[in-house]
Amino acid sequence: MRTALVNGRLLTGSGFVSGCTLLLSGARIEALLDPRDPRCAGVPSVDLEGQMLLPGFIDVQVNGGGGVLFNDDPAPESIRAIGAAHRVFGTTGFLPTLISDDLDTIGRAIDAVQAALDSSMPGVLGIHIEGPFLNWARRGVHDSKHLRQLDASLLSLLCRLRTGRTVLTLAPEMTTPDIIAKLAAGGILVSAGHSEANYAQTTAAIAHGLRGFTHLFNAMARLEPRDPGIVGAALYDETTWCGIIVDGHHVDPIMLKLALRCKRHDRFMLVTDAMPAVGSAHSTFILQGRTIRVVDGICRDQNGTLAGTALDMSAAVRNAVALLDLDIAAAARMASEYPAEFLGLGHELGRIAPGYRANLVLLDQELMVRKTWIEGLVSA
Ligand SMILES: [Zn+2]
Repeated sequence: MRTALVNGRLLTGSGFVSGCTLLLSGARIEALLDPRDPRCAGVPSVDLEGQMLLPGFIDVQVNGGGGVLFNDDPAPESIRAIGAAHRVFGTTGFLPTLISDDLDTIGRAIDAVQAALDSSMPGVLGIHIEGPFLNWARRGVHDSKHLRQLDASLLSLLCRLRTGRTVLTLAPEMTTPDIIAKLAAGGILVSAGHSEANYAQTTAAIAHGLRGFTHLFNAMARLEPRDPGIVGAALYDETTWCGIIVDGHHVDPIMLKLALRCKRHDRFMLVTDAMPAVGSAHSTFILQGRTIRVVDGICRDQNGTLAGTALDMSAAVRNAVALLDLDIAAAARMASEYPAEFLGLGHELGRIAPGYRANLVLLDQELMVRKTWIEGLVSA
């Protein structure tokens, strides 16, 4: 089944391109063509009305959406509901994210994601396990009763997902470089977060396979004159990726602009760290027994601790343009191409190019989402 997307402004590797037709064939992009190309003849077409067509957004940190929290019921139907809520905002690939919980719940979450992958549930790319191997002093909203050290006895559990990607957020000081190397060898994408690791601990973790940093600046030891620490290592290292929350609250935009001056832009990923409030009319939700209130788009517990976000990915892209002075192409790549590279999926996701999966988002002039495609199937 072929579809021709016509009259759009397509974000390609060389910037925005107008006046060509994007030919989809089944779940893949077949070609970018001149509209008069004979391969377009007789193919059903969709008029994009001059709007922007971007690679679909990829969000590697999604705790919930549509009123559903993954931790509450780590089952395939929860994943489906969360994915549907975020798709409205342009997310066509995501990792359901489990915050610190007990080992049984981690196992059930992995099995639920495996079932979602086995049934080709739209948008599911794997799982993000955030904790419980986190530093108590930087736990944020994570429940301290779950926090623990990571030793070799847990490797088989954490490496259980057979297909898709597993991201594991841990504090490097809660395990050893050797365990990080074993996780990396087992296919886990290890990301440092909720951590007080010093510079030496962090660079040792990088040398043993650490791949990224979870919500850079938040829940991390601060950059200090005589102690560059985890943030200094994240900014100084050229190879690792940094997830950033661009909601205007979690991190001052100046700090994010400083980060962008330190490191290649293709090592930054917009993440939402979204809670059930995204795509839901409810202004409160329960997180592991605690009431979280959403006021002015900010989620906090009764102590005022930030508890994830009410951010959706299209708002993150708009914020990156408005607050970080990025152009739309640069912001969009931080929401698609670069997270795809982080996940090791850059050969098939995150770009509008022949052979890539047809995961796409259509934005209007105000950068609001008009349509999405996942594997060639358009949203209703
Ligand atoms: Zn976190």
